[in-house]
Amino acid sequence: MIDLHIHTTCSDGAFTVQQVIDRSKELALKAISITDHDTLDGYRDLPADPGLEIVPGIELSTFYGGKLVHLLGYFFGVHVSRVPCAVCQSDKEHRTQDTGHWKGLTDYLIKVRKRNQDVLKHICDHLREEEGIPVTYEELLKKGAVRPTLALLALRLLSRGYAKDWREVGAVWGRIHRELEGKYPPPAIEAGIKVLKEARALIVVAHPGSLPMNGKGLAEDGVVELKEMGVHGLEVYHKRHKPEDSVFYKSLAKKHQLAVSGGSDAHCRGKEPEIGCVSVEDGVLDLLRQRFAQIYG
Ligand SMILES: [Zn+2]
Ligand SMILES: [Zn+2]
Repeated sequence: MIDLHIHTTCSDGAFTVQQVIDRSKELALKAISITDHDTLDGYRDLPADPGLEIVPGIELSTFYGGKLVHLLGYFFGVHVSRVPCAVCQSDKEHRTQDTGHWKGLTDYLIKVRKRNQDVLKHICDHLREEEGIPVTYEELLKKGAVRPTLALLALRLLSRGYAKDWREVGAVWGRIHRELEGKYPPPAIEAGIKVLKEARALIVVAHPGSLPMNGKGLAEDGVVELKEMGVHGLEVYHKRHKPEDSVFYKSLAKKHQLAVSGGSDAHCRGKEPEIGCVSVEDGVLDLLRQRFAQIYG
């Protein structure tokens, strides 16, 4: 079994990279991918011999027709099966992000991080100045967070009683969102696809069954449009997909010659870490690798 969608403390997961590796080995997973949101930080401190295959991965938050779409990028030009690196033509493994080979992607990620920080600062200022809620960006930075996120801010609103429940948090977002519109344009899906292509990644639409497209997940016309834009595959197996969702997206993948991927999307915040909770056969990775070789040769 494999799990190609796992988050760590480098984005919004609760497990460190090492904890993810340890748990995956306990479960005897053959391969995993660490797919943190908009960061490759998890690859910085990867042990030299993790003891199982780690497929390079990332999950980008992009916008498509005003809706949030998560794109998974795999392999990004890295020679999982010792395919020569596209950039330096060497066959040695590149695991760190400071080799310069992923420069376009890392530059993009730096911009996205700056934009997200600006948005969060703006939201904190708004809450303080307009709504009398005393939260500051600096305080969020201090509170032990690896990175101040909207989710962390939401938790603070809840824990301090400034919002009763997630519905009220949603209402606060609704008010702020209008103010932010236009000021900080979110990353467009085209930009995400472009940068992943430049990094020679296999591009997969994450959890298409739970995208907020029309309340029903991504429909066939959306799948076709995304394919035309340059997407290579669909995440067919995912913890939020019902069995019929997986059947549906598997059939669409077949019909439109798209690659099939799958993973738990584990964040490990609950009692049981969800790593490996979605059954994904080893053969899925073999096919992804074949598709990667066909596309990037
Ligand atoms: Zn996602
Ligand atoms: Zn995810």
